[in-house]
Amino acid sequence: MKLRTIIILTIVMLMLSITVTASMLIPSSDKAKEHAKAPEKSPAIGDDWELERIDFVHYAKPDWAVKPPKIPKTETCYKLMGVKWKSFPVDYVINPTNNDGLSESFVVNTISTSAETWDIVTSSELFSDSYGIDYTVQYGVYDYQNSIVFGDYPESGVIGVTSVWYTRKGKEIVEFDMLLDTDFTWGDAELNTNLMDLENIMTHELGHAVGLSDLYSDACSAVTMYGYSNYGEISKRSLEQPDITGLQEMYG
Ligand SMILES: [Zn+2]
Repeated sequence: MKLRTIIILTIVMLMLSITVTASMLIPSSDKAKEHAKAPEKSPAIGDDWELERIDFVHYAKPDWAVKPPKIPKTETCYKLMGVKWKSFPVDYVINPTNNDGLSESFVVNTISTSAETWDIVTSSELFSDSYGIDYTVQYGVYDYQNSIVFGDYPESGVIGVTSVWYTRKGKEIVEFDMLLDTDFTWGDAELNTNLMDLENIMTHELGHAVGLSDLYSDACSAVTMYGYSNYGEISKRSLEQPDITGLQEMYG
């Protein structure tokens, strides 16, 4: 009886030590993957729709601004979500309300420039050339509108969040909503490097809206879908070849 207890105790302690060691061995880069929150059923949606929602959270990286972007080498620097739009063009509605004194025309022109950046490299008519302006649209509500708004995200260090809704079976994106965090001061970083560049972040976030995931590997730090940004960055305004390859794999 005593021997059995000792054996059981030994097994339990062995298992515990294996668990602890395993968790210590998880590379820190894997922690970044947790930033893309696991798909979960949105409570706002009824069962019969069978929709899933995934939130892509874009974080500021304090040392990022001083690090020169690396050229992608061996790694494939694009990642498909496995879901995409099936009817085009994709319309979107902008709420230009912001805390930084940006004019309505600056906000909507900048956002449509970012949309056009994706549009011109695919043969599909991806984003609608005409966008809506609505000072009442909100982020995070499944309401058949692809809304882009400024607002406060309840977590520090978050620059922006894009939520994508898609059908579980058909793998079809049906809506996206985007929040640009008012914790940061937004504007044109080409004129002032102390600003969070609206075109830079919008181009990245719209990549999620069309079905691309974040990349966190240092080898991919030059691509638009790299998962970190900071004040003054404008390198994500233009797409790199891996971004274009990923887009064309989905939409031609
Ligand atoms: Zn992202």
